[in-house]
Amino acid sequence: MAVKDADVAIVGTGAWGSSALWRLAERGVNAIAFDAQSVPNVYGSSHGHTRLFRVACHEHVDLTPVARRAKELWLDLSADQGADLLHETGVLSIGPEDGRAIRNVRKAVAYAGVDVTTYTIDEVREKFPQHANLGDHYIGIMDHEAGFVRAEASIRAAVAAATARGARLFDRTAVLDVIDDGDAVIVRTGARDFRVGQVILSSGAWMTKMQDVVPLKAVRAPMLWWEAKDAPEEFSLKNFPAFIRHYDDQHTLWGHGSTPEAPVKLGPSFDEHSRMVVDPDQTLRGVRPGVDWATVGSILPWAVPGLQSAPVLAAPCLVTESPDMQFVIGRHPDRSRIVLAGGCSGHGFKHASAVGELLAQIVSGEELFTDIAFMRPDRFR
Ligand SMILES: Cc1cc2nc3c(=O)[nH]c(=O)nc-3n(C[C@H](O)[C@H](O)[C@H](O)COP(=O)(O)OP(=O)(O)OC[C@H]3O[C@@H](n4cnc5c(N)ncnc54)[C@H](O)[C@@H]3O)c2cc1C
Repeated sequence: MAVKDADVAIVGTGAWGSSALWRLAERGVNAIAFDAQSVPNVYGSSHGHTRLFRVACHEHVDLTPVARRAKELWLDLSADQGADLLHETGVLSIGPEDGRAIRNVRKAVAYAGVDVTTYTIDEVREKFPQHANLGDHYIGIMDHEAGFVRAEASIRAAVAAATARGARLFDRTAVLDVIDDGDAVIVRTGARDFRVGQVILSSGAWMTKMQDVVPLKAVRAPMLWWEAKDAPEEFSLKNFPAFIRHYDDQHTLWGHGSTPEAPVKLGPSFDEHSRMVVDPDQTLRGVRPGVDWATVGSILPWAVPGLQSAPVLAAPCLVTESPDMQFVIGRHPDRSRIVLAGGCSGHGFKHASAVGELLAQIVSGEELFTDIAFMRPDRFR
């Protein structure tokens, strides 16, 4: 039997792959990781300084234990690397009290006992006057366990923690094919083949091309940064904390105040002009002035009138949507040496450290720290 190059290979070293590499290395598993680009890079989903971190997740009540574990691990990684990765500034959810999102936040709070403060609409208006035109039927819920994660810094830290424990990273090395030969998995690159025991496929938007179990879609979604019209201090992080504002039952604005690294970051969950299904190898990498912020630019004078209505910075980003907007994590239903980790559906960064832990548990045959049946790859069959 031919000698293996590693026990586990990770294909794609973004937020999820880098965390998996760290958690495997922490267990002493002989793991290698590949990325087609440098790590981190601006071509996938994980660039742009920050990502909101929430514990009371409106997307699925069973994400709450994942977020809690993620938080422990972000703090462990911060301590290990002497880095400041998680900023616990709180995240304010604002929306119609009887709307789906606020109901789901409340469900997550009740389920996991999340530390929150609930504000009446008058209290929201008084404390956060930057948000205009809030309906009388709205409330605010401040998740005190929440905040934001520093995106590229977290990936760098996870890779550094992993390589310090013996893991190897092959960056700028595209994986061309993954072939299960029954006895091992061959990871084919331009330079050579690597023979490994198991593979984790965590290639973000490229999961649309690297597996056919789940019909995933890669969607281009620009990130946008804004400046205040004339009162910058009102929009500092301290005064304009991280938020998700559900302005009707489907559409949201999310963002946070300015940091030493960047101006106010703010974007829409849905934008008919800028969000489009793309081929990640062909998509436009620049921005389209006036088009990429047409929708949000028209909402801002109404929703947050203290901000300019055109951004000062913009950068395209990709999200990978699954049909039910939940993650796809688990063994490939037909090829058991391959583990799928994709379909972030636009809310995957905060959980990355815990997703890495789940992936390490799956390939190591350990009991999972929480039930992730709702993420099973075969749920669409
Ligand atoms: C505008 C925007 C806002 C967001 N806001 C939030 C937020 O507030 N909170 C939150 O939690 N999440 C948020 N997200 C989602 C979050 O950023 C993603 O869930 C997360 O970054 C996904 O990471 P990933 O590891 O799956 O993908 P990526 O980080 O893209 O990693 C995939 C990697 O695979 C590599 N790759 C691809 N093909 C190959 C190949 N053949 N061989 C080798 N390597 C390959 C790529 O180069 C890439 O580095 C947001 C996303 C966007 C776009």
